[in-house]
Amino acid sequence: MGIKFSRKEKRELEKTIQKFPLSITPYYASLIETKNYHNDPIFRQAFPSPLELKLSKCDMKDPLHEDKDSPTKGITHRYPDRVLFLISNKCAMYCRHCTRKRKVGDPDHIPSKEQILNCIAYIRKHREIRDVLLSGGDALMLPDDFLDWILTELGSIPHVEVVRIGSRTPVVLPYRITDELVYMLKKHHPIWLNTHFNHPRELTPSAKEALKKLADAGIPLGNQSVLLAGVNDCPQIMKKLNQKLVQNRVRPYYLFQCDLSEGLTHFRTSIGKGIEIMESLIGHTSGFAVPTYVIDAPGGGGKIPVMPNYILSWSTNKTVLRNYEGVITTYQEPTDYKTAPCNRKCNKCSSLNLKPEEYERAPIGVEKLLADTDDTISLVPKGNLRLGRRKTSRV
Ligand SMILES: *Cc1c(COP(=O)(O)O)cnc(C)c1O
Repeated sequence: MGIKFSRKEKRELEKTIQKFPLSITPYYASLIETKNYHNDPIFRQAFPSPLELKLSKCDMKDPLHEDKDSPTKGITHRYPDRVLFLISNKCAMYCRHCTRKRKVGDPDHIPSKEQILNCIAYIRKHREIRDVLLSGGDALMLPDDFLDWILTELGSIPHVEVVRIGSRTPVVLPYRITDELVYMLKKHHPIWLNTHFNHPRELTPSAKEALKKLADAGIPLGNQSVLLAGVNDCPQIMKKLNQKLVQNRVRPYYLFQCDLSEGLTHFRTSIGKGIEIMESLIGHTSGFAVPTYVIDAPGGGGKIPVMPNYILSWSTNKTVLRNYEGVITTYQEPTDYKTAPCNRKCNKCSSLNLKPEEYERAPIGVEKLLADTDDTISLVPKGNLRLGRRKTSRV
């Protein structure tokens, strides 16, 4: 492509890829604008930087505790009703900003068929799991017939209501989306697919063709972007990206704050940058072109949505809000709104014909504090000193 690295740069690149693997598809490499390649958003996502070896104090091997929250190798069961199921360890391209950088591409982490069978058995056994996310690596790096087998197994589990596929192939290897693939996927509906566009320049004619095939097969498409310094940390770029996505029938789903994984220091922005971007999207463009900005909590707490503040103040019967233009308005609360305390026994619930396990599920967290059926008045972190000084440990 006419890019020449100096000998020093070459040595640094070699050192970097000994720790984190390198793979770039010729297609994705062809999108690089070589003139000012160091600042090119495509180059920065694809080519290693020696900065990856600069660890910062807050970097962690597994910041999201995906391994700690794993009941069986290959499954992360973090939320009550859904699991992350890692079925592949390969990607067409190894994104430099990958949160699973320590693992993906490492030959020691290729899921065996036995491991996959164990995971399916776990899902079969846990009736609360209604949503399975196939990820990796890249779920679409598996051969069609193997994927077909996994989807058939999952399809045979009565409590699995929906399967989602996570794949960046529409972005980095759009030719993977073949007619045969979508024909196979269609047999397993409801299948949802989340992809990962980060920059409007990634929406090329080939990528659009891949998205069209998937959408025409009735697969609802979502997009998960990562906010990356020097790639897309700009309100204009983000607006353009999200508008182009909806034009291609892709619903922006999440915008992620960059994780605290090792080797990502140079990609991280402040959270303020993310809020600024959300401020420039909400109200300014179609509601369905606005993703939810989330921080995946270090320590495994899951995704936490973050937004600009729209509620300015409150009184007993009025709420003061502001809109995207800065107009301040009031909402008069109804004076006669009353709901009976919820005992989970009224006819609203019984008309739903809930399964016993749904019916009996105890509320958790803040939901529990709000529940009429629960007397808990506070949630207290473990190791609270004040409570430690009490004679009994009762809250
Ligand atoms: C993101 C994630 C999910 C899915 O979360 P949604 O908010 O439903 O998209 C499930 N499990 C794990 C471990 C995740 O990281």
